[in-house]
Amino acid sequence: MKKTLLACIAALSVGAAWADYPEKPVTIVVPFAAGGPTDKVARDLAEALRKPLNATIVIENVGGAGGTLGATKVSKASPDGYTLLLHHIGMATSPSLYRNLQYKTLDDFEYLGLINEVPMTIISRPTLPASSYADLAKWIEGNKGKINLANAGLGSASHLCGLLYQSTLKTDMTTVPYKGTGPAMTDLIGGQVDIMCDQTTNTTSQIESGKVKAFAVTTPKRLGGGLAKLPTLEEAGLKGFNVTIWHGLYAPKGTPKPVLEKINNALKTALKDADFHKREEALGAVIVTDARVNPADHKKFVEAEINKWGPVIKAAGQYAD
Ligand code: ASP
Repeated sequence: MKKTLLACIAALSVGAAWADYPEKPVTIVVPFAAGGPTDKVARDLAEALRKPLNATIVIENVGGAGGTLGATKVSKASPDGYTLLLHHIGMATSPSLYRNLQYKTLDDFEYLGLINEVPMTIISRPTLPASSYADLAKWIEGNKGKINLANAGLGSASHLCGLLYQSTLKTDMTTVPYKGTGPAMTDLIGGQVDIMCDQTTNTTSQIESGKVKAFAVTTPKRLGGGLAKLPTLEEAGLKGFNVTIWHGLYAPKGTPKPVLEKINNALKTALKDADFHKREEALGAVIVTDARVNPADHKKFVEAEINKWGPVIKAAGQYAD
């Protein structure tokens, strides 16, 4: 009886200690450089999250090593709700790629919910002599051994897509890693690299303004809007090619439950924000439905993605220390 009462008081005081959260700015770590697609999603989300969370939100870009440096930083941050991580599919591909990952994906984070799903596009420098997917395929065939493929490092979405693309075509390209596809895009536009596969959240405006050439989408269905004319890779003859990138929000393991609940509730509200929807949908992203914005389903989904991509990555023989 006495014990139960003490436990109740303890639980109440823990809850009370966090009742005023957030009392200072909340940092969202983006594990890629500024100006890229993950950064764009984070900045758009921050805008929508500010009101429901009642906090100033600061974006911190910690790029490098395919997103694993930023994820490592958050896994070791104080579990107080003031440092969060917004990461993509790399959360699920890096455990198969890095032999010495500094965190355990399923054990070292609190899962707060999925955010969106984003298709990818195969794009090239504007000077590449091809104007259709068939032209691109011929150009790749005729330039074996000379092609540079930009990506955001081992474990990034662009790496995963490029890996699948090369293995489906049975071609090896020279990969050029960046801290994010924001800076990679600058070099692609400038013609320093030839090809990239990247999220529509980064490529749509560059395609529409003619700064890069676009040849195909990586999803099973064609996209709408200005990108509707692009064939799917499946239509272009690459059977079963399907890469969709998703983003999720995480906190360090041990963040108090009342804080996690506040963030999750704020995330649910932010994902219904009309302006956020408008901005994301214009760039080809689909916001996830309420039912998937919960910690348990988010974690289950990441686990399934680890199991889905592990064998694919293993078959490609890729890994890093
Ligand atoms: N799109 C990048 C990737 O390939 C990352 C980024 O800069 O957002 O993973």
